[in-house]
Amino acid sequence: MSDALEIFSCPVCGGALEHTGGNLRCAREHSFDIASQGYVNLLLTGKSSSGDSAMMVASRRRFLEHGYYELFRDALSLIVAGIYGRNNAGSVVVVDAGCGEGYYTAGVCEALAACEANVKAAGIDISKAAVKSAAKRGCGAAFCVGSAFKMPLRDSCADIILSVFAPLSEEEFRRVLRPSGSLIIAAPGPRHLYGLKEALYERPYENEPNRFDFDGFETVGVKRVGGIIDIDRAEDIRSLFEMTPYYWKTSEEASKRLETLDRLSTEIQFEFHELRKL
Ligand SMILES: [Zn+2]
Repeated sequence: MSDALEIFSCPVCGGALEHTGGNLRCAREHSFDIASQGYVNLLLTGKSSSGDSAMMVASRRRFLEHGYYELFRDALSLIVAGIYGRNNAGSVVVVDAGCGEGYYTAGVCEALAACEANVKAAGIDISKAAVKSAAKRGCGAAFCVGSAFKMPLRDSCADIILSVFAPLSEEEFRRVLRPSGSLIIAAPGPRHLYGLKEALYERPYENEPNRFDFDGFETVGVKRVGGIIDIDRAEDIRSLFEMTPYYWKTSEEASKRLETLDRLSTEIQFEFHELRKL
């Protein structure tokens, strides 16, 4: 665990962090405690952690553990393993920017371990509850509470950055990724959760197309992955709803209508955009 945590840099001065005892410390004596769960909080004091609450994290984790999104985790793992294979370097540094409770981080770590890669993986999320949950997975990645807009990582340290339905910071991706490094952005495809939207809205719309024209990057490819899931537990329908932006902008009436459902069949569709730093 100690080596993994040393992937992070000091959020105050940007210096390297050394793992000594129960904390991480830089040469200028900035020190950060390692929580008993094994993660570290690298958000600067005064900036309280926000993001998903413990309840939302637990509900998301339950939903994901039931396997509804397994095809997405498998697809992402395959893409990452492919990039690792192409790079032919033996070692790889992967950063999951906005890792949530680590579902995809863990999948990718597992896939890379299966390739016998020497992996250093870091997961960063603004939600302390999410990071705590991610650290409990014991997947070998180092997790920290931190901002995707100011990642506690050295310049050009990452071979691969993942951003799965997470806030996008083009500048930080450019800074943290090494030249020729890969950025994989997962975003909703046009038909993602269409069945859920049909249950919520009179006139559902398809999602807008995604475009990621980042300066200093070229798009290598876009992979669309999807299927239909049948959810037969009311609590899973609820969890799915809470994971979406619709949860925040749907009328009470429509939310109530959803609560009466104990079955839901819906299309799900992710797009994985693979970009390469020039
Ligand atoms: Zn420092």
